[in-house]
Parts: sequence; C-alpha cells; structure tokens
Amino acid sequence: MLKRYHRLITERALGAVFGPQALEEIIAANLHQDHLLTGQIGHPEFHFDENAFAAGLAYMEAQRGRIGEALMAGRPRPARRAFGRLVHAAQDFYAHSNYVRLWLARHPDGRPPSAERIEPCDPDLLTSPELRSGRLYYPLEVLSFIPFSRAWAMARLPRDSHAWMNLDTPECGPLFDYAVEAAVKRTRLEYDRTVDGLSPEEMHLFVHSLTP
Ligand SMILES: [Zn+2]
Repeated sequence: MLKRYHRLITERALGAVFGPQALEEIIAANLHQDHLLTGQIGHPEFHFDENAFAAGLAYMEAQRGRIGEALMAGRPRPARRAFGRLVHAAQDFYAHSNYVRLWLARHPDGRPPSAERIEPCDPDLLTSPELRSGRLYYPLEVLSFIPFSRAWAMARLPRDSHAWMNLDTPECGPLFDYAVEAAVKRTRLEYDRTVDGLSPEEMHLFVHSLTP
C-alpha cells in the first residue's frame, strides 16, 4: 500500500488508543518498511508478497515478542517501532493477497456486502489453499510503476504478479475499499492481541509515555 494509506489506516485503527507522539513513532516505523533499499528488496515477509504467508506471520510474532521484551526493559520506543513493523505487514496482507477476492467470492449472487462488513480473519480463508499473494517479477515490476513504461510492462507481467494483484491504491478499483476496511479492523485486532497480558505499567509505557 502507498504510505498515505498505511498512515490513514493506522490513524483510524489506533488514533483513539495511543498518545500523539506514540502514534507518530508507530507510523514512522510502519512507513519505513517500504524503504526501497532496506525494506522492499528481499523482504517478502514485511509485505506478505510472494506467497510468504508463514514467513509473514512468523515475522509479525517476532515483532510481538520484541514489544514484550522492550516494555519489560522499560523501553517504549523500540516497542512502538516493532509494533509499527508488525501492523505494516498486517495491513499489506489485504492489499497484496487475494483475501478480499476470496471473501467476496462467497457472495456471488446479488449485491456484495459493503466494505465495512468485511471479516478480516475468517479462519477458512486464512488457511484456504486458494490463498495467494502477488509475485514480484523484476525488473518488469519496477517498470510497471513508471508511467512511461507501465503499459508495456503490464502487458508482459503474469497475472499472479504483484502488479496485477495488488490493491495498493484507489486506482485498483472498488476492491481497494475492502482492503482498507479489513486492514483497519486487523490493525485494531493486532493491537488487542499485543496488549493482552501487559501489566498496567507496561500498557501505560506503550501507549502514552513520552520519549526523548
Ligand atoms: Zn509494504
């Protein structure tokens, strides 16, 4: 997803629970995952690309572990950075996989349910053998981002590519809204999972404390 949508999703999901500085630290770490050199190449688990579902989930749980360790050591900032990385992956899952399409395929007749009704963690869909995410075919994938070469690259990219499958922007069509709504709900769910079991002191440190 483009950075502005990661920001919007994170603000919608977490704006009411984190203090302003804490939220900005989380958003900065979230957006940093899309850094071209350190985040994009060779890290499908950061973005649920390349069908890296098990690796993506393991990465999210590793970040959750780091949050607990950092808070136990009284260090909120590394905890929030880890949480920003965790929710980046959670949000990209809906933009880079066919989860939204699989969910909508359950409603083939009549009007599809509105985007707000999407269920972000349907266990049957999360474990479905049909679940896929886009593959990155370099260098064509890069050329598909450049307006000048986009049509040429798209014509040569397979349909299982990130370029064809993604729901990263509103230009991808009406399914984008479903990806956003699912990402907002999942982000909030990951927050609930993360704070479950924290002591009141750790909770306060995580959501409100100011860092230099
Ligand atoms: Zn990403």
